Amino acid sequence: MMADALYFQRLQLLTVVRLAAMPLSEDAFTALVDAGCTACTSKKLVIESIVVQTLPLLGGEPFGPSSWGYKGEDLVRGTYRIACESCKKELFTASACLRCDAAGGVARALEQENTFPLPAACAGCNSELLTATAYVPAVVLYEGKRANKARTQTTPEDPGFHAIRVECKRCRDVLERRNPCPLCA
Ligand SMILES: [Zn+2]
Ligand SMILES: [Zn+2]
Ligand SMILES: [Zn+2]
Repeated sequence: MMADALYFQRLQLLTVVRLAAMPLSEDAFTALVDAGCTACTSKKLVIESIVVQTLPLLGGEPFGPSSWGYKGEDLVRGTYRIACESCKKELFTASACLRCDAAGGVARALEQENTFPLPAACAGCNSELLTATAYVPAVVLYEGKRANKARTQTTPEDPGFHAIRVECKRCRDVLERRNPCPLCA
């Protein structure tokens, strides 16, 4: 009887911890940015997110403009911190990896360097024009519903840059990393 009660309590605790570590849903995100700061009522919020960046490569180096998934679902899924721009109050934080859900994944992803070396040429056709997909930390300003463009200065050499996929522009050959988690492992 006692053991059962204890087991149930632990189960409840685990559920609570798990819920707290869950990434934001789009609805919860919208509610948070609509409401603005709960302390000073400012509508200007700073969203910190780990977003997917697509960058062209030439000979293994970034070449030309890259693009970010800084809107909607992509931004929401990667959001690990929302804070008020003026009074700095934290309105939301998440610590679990957005890709594999491992505890403390966000901190590791931000601190660690890329472990997936960007190839200089395609293994299939030897072309040097490749497209890399990577996770990068980005900051987006929200004011009500409006978002500005994501700002990120992260280059492949910086901590926080994590390549997950490289595709050849010519033959479409794909190199991908799934395990261990390319973001936090
Ligand atoms: Zn505030
Ligand atoms: Zn992970
Ligand atoms: Zn190729």
